[in-house]
Amino acid sequence: MMMVDTVRLRLSNAHLLRGDRAVLVDAGAPGDGRRIDRALRAKGVDPAEVALVVLTHGHADHAGGSAEVRDLTGAPVALHPADAPMAGRGRNDPLRATGPAGRALRPMVDLAFPGVRADLALDAPLDLRPYGVAGRVEPLPGHTPGSVVVLLDSGDAVVGDLVRGGFLGGVLRPSFPLEHYYAEDRAAVRAALTTVLDLGVDRLFVGHGGPVAAADVRRRLDRVAPVGAVPGR
Ligand SMILES: [Zn+2]
Ligand SMILES: [Zn+2]
Repeated sequence: MMMVDTVRLRLSNAHLLRGDRAVLVDAGAPGDGRRIDRALRAKGVDPAEVALVVLTHGHADHAGGSAEVRDLTGAPVALHPADAPMAGRGRNDPLRATGPAGRALRPMVDLAFPGVRADLALDAPLDLRPYGVAGRVEPLPGHTPGSVVVLLDSGDAVVGDLVRGGFLGGVLRPSFPLEHYYAEDRAAVRAALTTVLDLGVDRLFVGHGGPVAAADVRRRLDRVAPVGAVPGR
């Protein structure tokens, strides 16, 4: 039995996947290590049971807690090499805002964090079965050049910042799909989201708010993943 648990952190979500073993998807912002520790224990998971930490991308609110989480779990950290430079130096690449909200939020989310070097390079699909989870990691660039998604045999997917759920960071209508605040490449986001939908995924667990239903994403695809240039930095 596969379970996806959302761990709500200060700025973002991490996700705990539980099969025969546990995989943690994303590590939160710097300082979120203790929250993750508490959340795992509250769910009855000893942090040492985590077999792998998958980073959906290298942004501060997803990779910023990686060093703390590696200390906590002892598990290897996996990241796509295209996002390794920003994770390594502990500083986001310039965040390209898709609208005014992204520009307004930038000072809050564009944090410096302890740099982290990945133990495992996600430059090709990775089968999660050896880590006790029925699913795989698939590189799908767009939000950042090194963004990946986790596709589970159950029909759920964990897609990081490919799409976001709800307003005010997911406080309001968390299951309502919206375009993310930032995108490196809108055409690639559109292609990535289309790929995920065409795989027959039912539910998308996201980095902010969520989860969102794939049917709702498809219905609003032109709003959630518009094509054209990103308005600006
Ligand atoms: Zn991001
Ligand atoms: Zn994020």
